[in-house]
Amino acid sequence: MARGAARAGGQVVNRAFDELRSRLGEVWDLRLTTWLLEWDQEVMMPRGGAAIRAEQLATIERVTHERATADEVGRLLDELDGYEDELDPESFEASLIRVARRDWEKARRVPTDLQAEMARAAVDGFELWMTARDTSDYTRFRPAIERNLELRRRYVECFDGFDDPYDVLLDDFEPGMKTAEAEAVLLRLREALIPLAAEIADAPQPDSAFLTGPFPVAGQKRAETELLRRLGFEPTAWRLDEIVHPAAYSFGTADIRITTRYSEDSLETLFSAMHEFGHGLYEHQIDPALNRTPLATGVSLGLHESQSRLWENLVGRSLPFWRGVYPLLAETFPDVLGAVDLEAFHQAVNKVEPSLIRVDADEVTYNLHIVLRFELERALLDGTLSLDDLPEAWNVRMREYLGVEVPDDAHGVLQDVHWSSGAFGYFPTYSLGNVISVQIWGRLKTAVPDLDDQIEAGEFGNLRAWLRDHLHRFGRMFTPRETLERAVGGPIDPEPYLGYLRAKAADLYGVAPRA
Ligand code: ZN
Repeated sequence: MARGAARAGGQVVNRAFDELRSRLGEVWDLRLTTWLLEWDQEVMMPRGGAAIRAEQLATIERVTHERATADEVGRLLDELDGYEDELDPESFEASLIRVARRDWEKARRVPTDLQAEMARAAVDGFELWMTARDTSDYTRFRPAIERNLELRRRYVECFDGFDDPYDVLLDDFEPGMKTAEAEAVLLRLREALIPLAAEIADAPQPDSAFLTGPFPVAGQKRAETELLRRLGFEPTAWRLDEIVHPAAYSFGTADIRITTRYSEDSLETLFSAMHEFGHGLYEHQIDPALNRTPLATGVSLGLHESQSRLWENLVGRSLPFWRGVYPLLAETFPDVLGAVDLEAFHQAVNKVEPSLIRVDADEVTYNLHIVLRFELERALLDGTLSLDDLPEAWNVRMREYLGVEVPDDAHGVLQDVHWSSGAFGYFPTYSLGNVISVQIWGRLKTAVPDLDDQIEAGEFGNLRAWLRDHLHRFGRMFTPRETLERAVGGPIDPEPYLGYLRAKAADLYGVAPRA
């Protein structure tokens, strides 16, 4: 029984498994090191470090790719074929082998040269995009998107057996989901939300002028720190830093770092911090036993976004939440909010208004920004839309879906970073997350009947525990589909989300609810 299974203390011991696990542990260490270098680059590094940092990242990424795709990993996986059959399919061991096999087979299909070229093109594309956006000059960005698109077509060719080339790209962000399934959800959102936004536009509009402040930054920081503390941010495992692009990073379940930004003329930082807290909490509540394995992260971007949206919107834009928190805020900013009552504030932070910029969009119109990007990137990939026509196609859809005129490309096709780094297939996950967040919320409301009272009282322990037990702790042990099934008891379904938005529109705008 040199490598075969042996029982020791009730545990199945397998040397091939142990070897696989230790190799995967090293690869995971390297991945976290990459992310740490990226975090440092965003948060700490002086700009002068960029060139050397790019070399460091390229080296670590090359070593990671070599180790992750080594023949030896394949040999160990082959050896574990029989062992896998003996395992409980829901066990840590079986999950690790399954995920390792999937990752290995996927990574092996992509030649190292292509991988490196995509990484290089992403860095170059980012630079070009920044210049193009600052000068609102699409022609400067066009070569970057062209190169990225060409590389993604070559990437797609590395795979076979898909129904739609876009499946391959979507799979990098939402593993296992087919384009047709994402499309069905997005088209349903488009069909329902264009008329809902129009009905809301015809209703009397709430006053939201006071949301432009001024809100002194020192006060924002105080309020934000207190708010995060109530949600569950503990300094022993979390960090908050200030940078241009809000984000969440995890370097293991007890090292979660989120970032935010402040502006005197907005309270956006509070919602952005709750959003990133949701991402961070997902990573923080993964079973610590999964650390140093590829299971120790969120299972898909859609499920990840469901967690950020749950805290930002379902909790953070709800009346019970503000009942608990608003007195603190009004006290912090008496000049602006002293004369604004709780209901008026709650209405203002839920104001629906079609706008040009996705990241500033409200809950209703946000998804129309996503549908637009999904449709355009599919058309670019299959060649039915040329890059010359992209800005105009963008503007036409903005008019059609949101009723707004795009004044220049900086406020249109150049606003998002994603295509500059070749991240085609990413956008749908934002809307999938919105949809899933409300499916999860429905389950939570049943499981914790006095959830609203708890939220109002600033008690989030039961909410966090439910999310941990039904979703977070599994990490990548199961597929996204299986994970969702465990959390909500069924597949993705846009109807609860649409029902939630309609109920809110009825509440806040008097728009008649539909059957
Ligand atoms: Zn997010």
